[in-house]
Amino acid sequence: MAPSRASVPHPSRPLVAVLATGGTIAGAEMPRPGRGYQTAIFSIESLIAAAPGIERLARLHVEHVASIGSQDMGEAVWRTLSRRTQAALDRPDVAGVVITHGTDTMEETAYFLNLVVKSSKPVVLVGAMRPATAMSADGPMNLFNAVATAADPEAGGRGVLVVANDEIHFAREVAKTNTTQVGTFKSTHRGLAGLVSSGRIHYYGAPVRRNTLGSAFLIPGKAAMPRVDIIYAYAGMGRGLIDAAVRGGARGLVVAGVGNGNLGSAALAAAAKASRAGLAVVRSTRTGGGIVERNIEVDDDRLGFIAADELNPQKARILLMLGLMQTRDPAALQEMFYAY
Ligand code: GLU
Repeated sequence: MAPSRASVPHPSRPLVAVLATGGTIAGAEMPRPGRGYQTAIFSIESLIAAAPGIERLARLHVEHVASIGSQDMGEAVWRTLSRRTQAALDRPDVAGVVITHGTDTMEETAYFLNLVVKSSKPVVLVGAMRPATAMSADGPMNLFNAVATAADPEAGGRGVLVVANDEIHFAREVAKTNTTQVGTFKSTHRGLAGLVSSGRIHYYGAPVRRNTLGSAFLIPGKAAMPRVDIIYAYAGMGRGLIDAAVRGGARGLVVAGVGNGNLGSAALAAAAKASRAGLAVVRSTRTGGGIVERNIEVDDDRLGFIAADELNPQKARILLMLGLMQTRDPAALQEMFYAY
């Protein structure tokens, strides 16, 4: 049965490329005790079949890129996925791209693509919190809404988007905030890109920072990207984790600092030493929201640190990895955190 308020069939159905990477949207509950479910079991074709009426929105061209839970996502798949996304966008007959993806690291992939893919056509990431076999699985409607968004020329020029739970999020703004709820994705800083209900879309705004065509970053080549570690701060923290990251070969550190990107004295001394040794040190926050500004409780100017602005640690890591491929200058890196 088609969704009750499905869109009117598109007059000349646009072509949407669907790139599949796995995740719960393609997952099944497991009969064995002690195991909730397994990701990436179902084919994208069966997911499409579970969203009746989707063929009225667009013609779909399906490509398989990976079949993983997104906890296994990383730079190797990002490289392939970016190239395949770009190739699809470069085809004149393709109106937009949908990427199916696990929700755990969806925000990182979305932000990575937002920085390296060059197009004004819509790129939409979509996933699900409940496996395809669950009661009230959220995947089919999410996929339906994602295809509707990717097929809509008005969704273009907004950078990479994430569609879930009837909401459209900007890649830079979105974060997974809950382990299990279908409303896990939130855009806490600057709000939603829009709403989408049974394929009907309402747009709210434009992205505030440089992205896609306006971004100076390119899809990385074969060489490994600079290693950037995330260090989670806590009360009573020592210097051990930071020293270990430096010894391990990190070129950059992102600190998920307490409060406004703070570190206790011992950890701060280790971070200062890392900065003197030439590592880029970015201060983000473990709070889940708010701006980390320069020189509030930490003398960033003196220590050569970079403030993450609004980026959460995992997105700050993406930007720093790409930024370090261009420069190691803390002032230039700081400008990137204000621009992207
Ligand atoms: N860990 C899995 C993943 O990110 C399950 C989460 C999900 O897809 O919702 O792929």
